Amino acid sequence: MPREGLLGIDALTRDEIQAILDRARDFQPKPNESFGRFEILKGRTVVNLFFETSTRTRTSFEIAAKRLGADAVSITAQASSVTKGESLVDTLNTLAAMRPDAIVMRHSASGAPHFLQRYLATPIVNAGDGTHEHPTQALLDARTILDRGARLEGLRVAIIGDIAHSRVARSNVYLLSKYGAEIVLCGPASLLPKELAKIAPGVTLTTNMDEAIRNADVIMMLRVQLERQHEAAFPASEYFSFYGLRLEHLRLAKPDVIVMHPGPINRGREISSEVADSQRSVILNQVENGISVRMAVLESVLAGKRAGGKE
Ligand code: ASP
Repeated sequence: MPREGLLGIDALTRDEIQAILDRARDFQPKPNESFGRFEILKGRTVVNLFFETSTRTRTSFEIAAKRLGADAVSITAQASSVTKGESLVDTLNTLAAMRPDAIVMRHSASGAPHFLQRYLATPIVNAGDGTHEHPTQALLDARTILDRGARLEGLRVAIIGDIAHSRVARSNVYLLSKYGAEIVLCGPASLLPKELAKIAPGVTLTTNMDEAIRNADVIMMLRVQLERQHEAAFPASEYFSFYGLRLEHLRLAKPDVIVMHPGPINRGREISSEVADSQRSVILNQVENGISVRMAVLESVLAGKRAGGKE
């Protein structure tokens, strides 16, 4: 039987999510200090297997594992036998034979980790699968919102950009919806699939950015994922004037609105530098919370303790 990893937010209960968010708080560093060092996962090995480019997520998982005392090994697809034609199942089985305690995996195919987990006894933590889910991103986003003293219940969250290709949007929709947040998805019609209004309660769609931002407590901007678009879905030269977040937009939102972005940000494309660097931006807080949240996730998966108190 496969041990339980973390494949997506959709399958988690609100209590399981809350347990991870609460535990992540214990791992947050004190001001001007680094993350603490623990021996919770001493003697355990975590393999990071990334079939897609990544800077922050891979580094963040690696630091999280090391801060918990685990050994962390990172493999990128360009440097692996995948380029020699090995199948995904063979690659994973080979790695699993080296007896790591968990595999953190990013892949461009939606559902790849779910498929592999059926064959593997090693728990898999999904670090982003295609356009499907990016569970630790949604968890670190929730931790960041909560740090501002906000409750997730009843919040109005505008998620703006390339919704169609965003696993960040999907994972956030699943998470925020479980807390009863009001979620407005916004982007050009060609990047805003109507079905998304049905994946969870509390979701509405609009192509009008002002409408999305009006009274928002949280604005989450998304990158245009050109690597996933087979043809340009919106003229690049016009994107910023219709869907780029500028200072004047913030006046429509609640006075204490926060601006989030999972990164990498493209200044002048989906967000202006003035907004990205403003007091309202919590983009670097998100990056910092990435480590504490991933520590909580790895502990929950590896220390045999499932979030929510289940053994
Ligand atoms: N870093 C996020 C992801 O892996 C968002 C992005 O790439 O735009 O999905």
